[in-house]
Amino acid sequence: MSKKILVLPGDGIGPEITAEAVKILNACRDAGLDAELEEGLVGGAGYDAEGHPLPDATLAKAKAADAILLGAVGGPKWDTLEDLSKRPEKGLLGLRKNLNLFGNLRPALLYPQLAEASTLRPEVVSGLDIMIVRELTGGIYFGQPRGVEERDGERVGFNTYVYSESEIERIGRVAFEMAQKRGKRLCSVDKANVLEVTILWREVMNRLAPEYPDVELSHMYVDNAAMQLVRAPKQFDVVVTGNMFGDILSDAAAMLTGSIGMLPSASLNAHQQGMYEPCHGSAPDIAGQGLANPLATILSVAMMLRYSLGEPALAERIERAVGKVLDQGLRTADIAYPGTRQVSTAEMGDAVLAAFAES
Ligand code: NAD
Repeated sequence: MSKKILVLPGDGIGPEITAEAVKILNACRDAGLDAELEEGLVGGAGYDAEGHPLPDATLAKAKAADAILLGAVGGPKWDTLEDLSKRPEKGLLGLRKNLNLFGNLRPALLYPQLAEASTLRPEVVSGLDIMIVRELTGGIYFGQPRGVEERDGERVGFNTYVYSESEIERIGRVAFEMAQKRGKRLCSVDKANVLEVTILWREVMNRLAPEYPDVELSHMYVDNAAMQLVRAPKQFDVVVTGNMFGDILSDAAAMLTGSIGMLPSASLNAHQQGMYEPCHGSAPDIAGQGLANPLATILSVAMMLRYSLGEPALAERIERAVGKVLDQGLRTADIAYPGTRQVSTAEMGDAVLAAFAES
């Protein structure tokens, strides 16, 4: 049966980068992928057109889709909206929550051709291949109660860091299974020396471990993990952590690979339905200038083919095409360095398309 893919370009550089990814998706359809594409509005674009960052029509299409490709949301135009529930980012959080996309996979893989583009020395990062598994629908970003209120004559802001055993267990299983398919090492990151919620997190990870005897489980406090990621990142294979720690650590890991413009992500529910998006935001500082790197979004299409559409061979073809283009020395501005040829967003997309067609 034909698969349904919903494309949500969003704001800022979102439309530019998704346009390049859609070219590749269409090439995959020419190569035999049985899928229909639809578009929808989300984020600031949804707010401007429909008065809401997640319009009802978009949510309905998202629920019916097998996979969603999202560009990015947000920008200064909407930063002053007083009603926080109408801010663009709420569209994204709403999609994650409504589709129960609790498992966020963020690979930090350094293409050998980009070792020079990293701010870390090439010998520290070359060969880097980490998978960060971040819990995405719980923790402090969603916990209740939350708010800002008057207490004893001053305003107090508060959020709640909460995880149930079942929430920890299901993300733990995703991470153990991912480790089984990779280097068989799993590092669970918490703050169990300070936070009760992460003491429970650690207990549940330890309880699961005997069910995955081929996986070596270790634990690390988040502050140490941040340090180790920049000191000796190759020690990690799969990292599993909660929503907020994962948000921060995956951005740090992104920079190891040269540019956040290279990193795809997948957010999956229990039924393989997934939302695929680059790890970066809407980059309003470079929007509309042809400077954005579309490779993270194109590589997100590869993850979509692998995790939601059951087409691993097409996924590999896309990843090989990206490698070939980097071999050719083509670089968008964020990954360019002397000796390489700087190209625009669309030129990069076209080059990947050509390499894909030849493979
Ligand atoms: P950002 O990721 O948009 O940009 C950070 C820096 O990285 C900027 O200098 C930007 O130019 C650069 N960059 C990002 N993507 C790039 C790409 N593909 N190619 C080249 N350079 C790239 O983060 P920010 O500046 O903190 O946030 C900007 C907006 O994006 C905010 O409104 C924020 O809320 C939103 N945001 C959205 C998402 C999302 O949609 N998933 C994620 C993070 C931030």
